[in-house]
Amino acid sequence: MPITIDDIKVILTQPGKSRLCIVKVITSEPGLYGLGCATFTQRIFAVATAIERHLKPFLLGRDVDRIEEIWRMSMVHGYWRNGPVLNNAISGVDQALWDIKGKRAGMSVCDLLGGKVREAAHVYVHADGGSKEEVVDNVRAYMERGFRYIRVQMGGYGGQGGQLIKPLNAPAGAYFNPRAYCRDMLEMIAHVREQVGAEVELLHDIHERLAPIHAVQFAKDVEPFRLFFLEDALAPEDIHWFRHIRGQCATPLAMGELFNNPQEWQLLIQERLIDFIRMHISQMGGITPARNVAIFADLYGARTAWHGPSDTSPVGHAANLQLDLWHPNFGVQEWYQPSDLDYAIFPGLPIVDAGYLYPNDEPGLGIDIDERLAAKYPCQDFVEEWTQTRLPDGTPVRP
Ligand code: MG
Repeated sequence: MPITIDDIKVILTQPGKSRLCIVKVITSEPGLYGLGCATFTQRIFAVATAIERHLKPFLLGRDVDRIEEIWRMSMVHGYWRNGPVLNNAISGVDQALWDIKGKRAGMSVCDLLGGKVREAAHVYVHADGGSKEEVVDNVRAYMERGFRYIRVQMGGYGGQGGQLIKPLNAPAGAYFNPRAYCRDMLEMIAHVREQVGAEVELLHDIHERLAPIHAVQFAKDVEPFRLFFLEDALAPEDIHWFRHIRGQCATPLAMGELFNNPQEWQLLIQERLIDFIRMHISQMGGITPARNVAIFADLYGARTAWHGPSDTSPVGHAANLQLDLWHPNFGVQEWYQPSDLDYAIFPGLPIVDAGYLYPNDEPGLGIDIDERLAAKYPCQDFVEEWTQTRLPDGTPVRP
């Protein structure tokens, strides 16, 4: 008798600033369940509805062992596909099924994929500051704690410098000045490199804020400071511009947190136009497609650097780590600063020591959820402010 999907539960919780969506797949075997991350924090309730009203009725009673079939059927069953809400919904189920398979086998998901090639994963952390001096202080503080990969930003995405001369009646929004951004970030990165030396790996995220030609210029200008990678120099809509950056400098390029559709990464990997794939595992549909793209990327020399800020849930971070430990061409893992509450709600959330992220010895994803504690922190209703991004004249742009 196969073990089947008995119930699918959506758990929404907000222990910090990010609203998180966890999927619990409950099986016909008493006590056996799996967890998956389906967190699309800005559209969290749409994902929850997609799971409860569309995926759950379709998946109840299916054999939990048939992950590949369930993933493929879930992708095409709605006919329209490759969008972030539905991909996240499918990811929640997919990750939970890998978790279940691991628990049944008494193996970690990493073991199911082929086994470890490393004991722990290098992580990078975020250092931001209001001034270049403050960024240096924050980088040094991380270095003292043993971190060797540090992302440097100043004034948040888009920076805060330069003159913002707005027209009369300018609407509210998160304004920024792209010219000031380029100037200030270059100066900041040069200063940090000079102050902290050559050993530490520095990263920077443009967050697709620049016009493509200015991104080309920035990638050239920043080349002497030897970034580990420059992230999201371009938006997914502008990926053909990567050829122009590649033709002009050797700044390593990372891309992909917004990708939904295989069409978006195939060309970039195949033509060797990027160095790191940055996909958000739940956004692309779970461990099943992540495994496939990681193998594909390896053939072309692109390394993995899965998306891992605070709007990846602890379950998603556990999934990232399982892939990191297995993938031969792993680059680095983005890491956030989990709170004590995160560790209390999610027993098994991986631990960092001296810049390395370590797994535990539990099977599956190695993570659990205290549902009663999670329920004490319900998701809040609010409208995101930081994504209401505008140029100085008020034009809405990508955040
Ligand atoms: Mg990013």
